[in-house]
Formats: sequence, structure tokens, C-alpha cells
Amino acid sequence: MSANGKTFVVLMGAPGAGKGTQARLLEKKLGLPQVATGDLFRANLKNETELGRLAKSYMDRGELVPDSVTVKMVRERLTCDDCQNGALLDGFPRNPIQAEALNELLAELGGRIKVVPYIKVDEEVLIERLINRARIDGRADDNEETIRNRMRVYHEQTTRLFDYYRDRHLLVEVDGDRPIEEIHQELVSIIEKA
Ligand code: AMP
Repeated sequence: MSANGKTFVVLMGAPGAGKGTQARLLEKKLGLPQVATGDLFRANLKNETELGRLAKSYMDRGELVPDSVTVKMVRERLTCDDCQNGALLDGFPRNPIQAEALNELLAELGGRIKVVPYIKVDEEVLIERLINRARIDGRADDNEETIRNRMRVYHEQTTRLFDYYRDRHLLVEVDGDRPIEEIHQELVSIIEKA
């Protein structure tokens, strides 16, 4: 993969669609690290950094953390050694400004987006999954009100990226209402073919 520069895969899908689960499986299979902005923010929260404190006020409401802060964090992460061949992006970009920032960043780092798989799941299934996950993981932002707001933000901002990546011939839809292993196999084949 490194022969053609760094390879980036952008996993798209609503909150609860299974991006994290699939990114972790792909990480093992493809040897590319999962870079999940939500996880990075949660790690900062846990370590009580200044960034964590700032992010918390947005995460608790299900709003997006400001782009400048998010992009800076992603830039730092993507310049780490383990991203020398690329990365699997999970939860970033989430709006067109972040998508443009990613393009600039990749131009600078010498990489390109190989493909943008979109894991598609019916909204009612998603809300149920998220409420269940809240019970199991105890994630602070998995209460019903925040979940509904995250869905609203997703519809208002993130779904605008479908056209953005479709226009660039990068978007590939995947049915996400199937067993995890089946979705994984399809993702592997999409990424290998791209
Ligand atoms: P996630 O784990 O991807 O569902 O993200 C949890 C929360 O972290 C989101 O609701 C946002 O508050 C914040 N977050 C994660 N990724 C981003 C991003 N790319 N831009 C802004 N905020 C983000």
C-alpha cells in the first residue's frame, strides 16, 4: 500500500451504524490504524486535558466540537508513526469544512482517500441500538435526548458529505443491517478493489 503513498479509508454512517466495530475489524485485517475522533475526544476527557474539558461541553449535548479544534487533533494523530501507510477514519470528517481540511491535510502528508464506504442502517434500528449501547457501555452521551440531537446534527451536517464524496466517485453504500462478519467481508472486498 505504501508504494502509492498513504491510503485513507473514510468510514461513513450514522451514530450507531457500526463504524467503530467495523473499523476495529478492518484495522486487524488491513494493518491500518483506526483513527476515531470520538475515541480521541473521550481519551482526552478521561485524562482531563484542556481539550477534553472543551470537548465535553459539546459532546454532552451531542453537538460537534468546533472544526478548528477537531482538525488540529486529527492532524496531530495522522502525523504519528503508525499512520505512515494511512489510516481508517471513523467519525471524521463530519461536515464539508472538515472534508476540505482533510483534503488539504492529505495533500500535505502525501496521501489520498481510496474509498468512502457508507454503512447504511434504518434510523429506528439505530436509535434502539444506541439506547442499548448506553446501558452496556454507560457512555455519557448515549442518553435519549443526546442521541436524538446527535441524529439531528448528523442529518443536518454529515449527510451533506454523501454528495460530496459521490461527486468524487468515492462513495460506496453497504447494507449495515446484517451480521457484523458479513458486513466486514463486504468492506474488505470494497477496499481491496478500490
Ligand atoms: P462518536 O464517538 O463518533 O459518536 O463521537 C462522539 C462525540 O464526539 C460527537 O457527538 C461529537 O460531540 C464529538 N465528535 C466526534 N467526532 C467529531 C468530529 N469529526 N467533529 C466534531 N465533533 C466530533
